[in-house]
Amino acid sequence: MIVVFGSLNVDLVTPVERLPGAGETVLGPGYALHPGGKGANQALAARRAGAGVTLVGAVGRDGFAEIALGLLAEDGVDLSHVARVGAPTGAAFIAVDAAGHNQIVVAAGANALARADAVEALKPGEGDLLLLQREVPEGECLRAARAMRAGGGRVILNLAPAGEPAPDLLALTDILIVNEHEAQILAGSLGWAETEPDAIAQRVDAERGIASIVTLGAAGAVGWHGGVRRRLEAPVVEAVDTVAAGDSFVGAFAAALQAGFGFSGALQRGLAAGSLACTIAGAQPSVPRRAAIEALVGK
Ligand code: ADP
Repeated sequence: MIVVFGSLNVDLVTPVERLPGAGETVLGPGYALHPGGKGANQALAARRAGAGVTLVGAVGRDGFAEIALGLLAEDGVDLSHVARVGAPTGAAFIAVDAAGHNQIVVAAGANALARADAVEALKPGEGDLLLLQREVPEGECLRAARAMRAGGGRVILNLAPAGEPAPDLLALTDILIVNEHEAQILAGSLGWAETEPDAIAQRVDAERGIASIVTLGAAGAVGWHGGVRRRLEAPVVEAVDTVAAGDSFVGAFAAALQAGFGFSGALQRGLAAGSLACTIAGAQPSVPRRAAIEALVGK
């Protein structure tokens, strides 16, 4: 079982000619409403990559909740531990300008009320995996991580959006996944002078005993595990938009580990999934399925 303890959001996306400055109003022609949130996206990615997935989190008692849950339900993610709480469903307000640059405000809403009780109640055991990000309260992530570790399962921490992890949470982490920016924020928060992704990943592995992966966009990823370095290229694709690339990587990586692939095999599948997500516009619609991932890995 893969348990994802994380956020569910709706994304409200509006095109604008240019992004507003402080105190400024700009007009957009309309907006689209999509399901999102890193927890939800990664749960969907792990599920589409073939794993059994339980998502633990919270949505509001509002219409946005149905949008946030829609594709997850269609794909068979277990949503029985997503609580309905007295706060609005989390939302990301996204403006995208003509050059493709964006400005994003994420309102936590119900995600701030997500609780780890359900992770404890699931009584995770050996062979189970917990996937964490940084969009639900960190104290609850800690509880979830303790429950997973107590049962003998492993904890994967995706330090996104970028920020400083609590030392206790890092101590409970088996595998850390970050992009280049998040790697630098992490190194800074630990007081390290390293700025290169490779060096940061190596030090996390060597000093903390945490297998560590830094994704490098179109350039692929570098991973360190037990003192061994893996540098893998991303499959070459025609990228149309990189939204949900990182989430697809994390979900597919976790699903592959769960399926029994080793660190390198899981890395390869994460990379294939990340690259495939770039070939289709949008977040959740672009999350690839196992057959497509395996086809790309086999090329
Ligand atoms: P994030 O989306 O979290 O910022 P990255 O940009 O590092 O993370 O992308 C995660 C993964 O998605 C990469 O390791 C790679 O597999 C894939 N990817 C991202 N951008 C591209 C791209 N332009 N072309 C091909 N693959 C990409």
